[in-house]
Amino acid sequence: MNDTSPLRAASAPHLLSLLKQVFGFAEFRPHQEQIILETLAGRDIFAALPTGGGKSLCYQLPSLVRSGLTIVISPLIALMKDQVDSAKAAGVEAACLNSSISPAERHEVYSALATGALKLLYIAPERLAMDGALEELTAWNCTAVAIDEAHCISEWGHDFRPDYRQLKRIREQYPNIPITALTATATRRVQDDVITQLGLKNPYTIRASFNRPEIFYRVEPKRDALTRIASFVKARASLSGIIYRATRADVEATATYLQKQGIGAACYHAGLSDETRRQHQDDFKADRIPVIVATIAFGMGIDKPDIRYVIHGDLPKSLESYYQETGRAGRDGENAETLLLWSIGDLAKTRWHIRQLDDSGEQERAGKALQSMLRFADTFACRRRILLAHFNEEHPGNCGSCDVCTGEVESIEATEDARKFLSAAIRTHQQYGAHYLADIVKGTLSDKIRDKGHQNLPTFGVGADMTKKHWLAIANDLEAAGFTYRDEERYKAVTITQEGMELLYGRREFRTVRRAKDSKEKLHAAAYRLPLAPNGQERELSEEDKKLFEALRALRFNKAKEIGKPPYIIFPNRTLIAMAVFRPRTQEELLACPGVGEKKLEAWGKLFLNEINAFLEQ
Ligand code: ADP
Ligand code: ZN
Repeated sequence: MNDTSPLRAASAPHLLSLLKQVFGFAEFRPHQEQIILETLAGRDIFAALPTGGGKSLCYQLPSLVRSGLTIVISPLIALMKDQVDSAKAAGVEAACLNSSISPAERHEVYSALATGALKLLYIAPERLAMDGALEELTAWNCTAVAIDEAHCISEWGHDFRPDYRQLKRIREQYPNIPITALTATATRRVQDDVITQLGLKNPYTIRASFNRPEIFYRVEPKRDALTRIASFVKARASLSGIIYRATRADVEATATYLQKQGIGAACYHAGLSDETRRQHQDDFKADRIPVIVATIAFGMGIDKPDIRYVIHGDLPKSLESYYQETGRAGRDGENAETLLLWSIGDLAKTRWHIRQLDDSGEQERAGKALQSMLRFADTFACRRRILLAHFNEEHPGNCGSCDVCTGEVESIEATEDARKFLSAAIRTHQQYGAHYLADIVKGTLSDKIRDKGHQNLPTFGVGADMTKKHWLAIANDLEAAGFTYRDEERYKAVTITQEGMELLYGRREFRTVRRAKDSKEKLHAAAYRLPLAPNGQERELSEEDKKLFEALRALRFNKAKEIGKPPYIIFPNRTLIAMAVFRPRTQEELLACPGVGEKKLEAWGKLFLNEINAFLEQ
């Protein structure tokens, strides 16, 4: 990259001071600065940055530097209000035009546009399709366009929106207005398509790493899902989390179970009224409830930055969806955790659904997607490495932040056990289910076994030293690894595949993964942890710090309620934690806390300083 032009060299320090002054951040996230410099030099941009990468800043900050208006195209009306609120809270004059605002509000926006008071205008793509809409750009003195979720223009992407196709008219009509296209999900094919469709000219192109180092990945066999979910959630009380379940019935059951244990949880699925869904989503955003239990219908409309964990109670359909859904955790860059529970039952259900698809191409795609998901869930290798490999990104492994790398799970040699189980199946002519076979191996004399005389088989009781749970787990693992399948037409009888035969006859080995016996689950997403710049070392808060943090959090909650906005609009958690640790007494000291810019200092500084002073005087 050629950065030597005087304009670029001169503006870099200026950008950094704006970053601090307005947004309260001390440094740029990867690629932000370069993107901003390039767009200010008039260049088109294509940027694929992961969720939480800080895409908004890439158009918000330049809008403050250039004269005129920056138009932001965003597909989700539900998100626009939050985006506008966040921008305004930092002191960037912003507004939106979409079908959800009242005539009075619209009038106000138009007056602001007429006087040139706005820096950012968020609009939905369908609005540009309206007659004369593009001409308005001249009237509004539009000098830049940013397109959020730019992958929506491509049919190769996963949420193609026909309305996005209108956007190519921007370039046709305004060849000289620089366009910034942003997305979190572009494959290379989508990238090329977006660039062509929008008519970007020699764009500055960035594909950031899709690694999310702040996210811890964890996968477990699903046994008693509700108990496991409840214990996970309880260990992280008061932190925000999302729990995904495959069906509405499971969503309801999980939420009810958690509520009975005194956990504030609400449901979100397509069977609820719009009103109820919105209410639950607002409660979640405003921290009135910590947990939302949802089908995958939930997520697109939320960009709460401080979600600390995402649980999947069932196997997702593809690694892409898993990546996206888990990616909703930790957008603020603080530690976050994931937990995936899955069972052979999940696998069987998904396979059944795939068989119901009409189109053979679709069947094949769905089958491949499931295979990639399984490769991630059912392998003893660094999860991050497998996940990133799926997005064509190499990672050396040994990430130190997944259950495999931290030794929470271990790989065990299970060839002998597998053979014992398979031979029980062979000797009973592959006519029985896993429970029955486990009883034979374990040597449990049930009525049914006595009836059939199977206590006389040589396999009976060969595995008496292990629990039945162990044998059922072996049965599951064998099926997951493709050595057996259950024949749905024959009462789920365990049937041995070609590979299974090879294993049985000694031509293959078998290893499986277990939760390490005495591994304690480490809490990775703690409410009270502060990464201390510049060395990035973490430090736990003292008991006193925690008290102050809670006091500040309560203050923030009440103020947020008063102004009818989510608490994170006032300050993110990181800012409150910094206040609790550094205990600023003056405005200058407060300004040094991350996330405090001049506008926020003016709006909230006194209030928070008073709270800190009151606490210190006690
Ligand atoms: P994306 O749209 O890429 O998912 P956002 O623009 O919503 O990400 O930003 C995610 C979070 O990161 C926001 O809370 C934002 O304030 C914060 N953020 C953005 N840039 C920086 C930065 N340079 N330093 C610290 N935090 C940042
Ligand atoms: Zn790892």
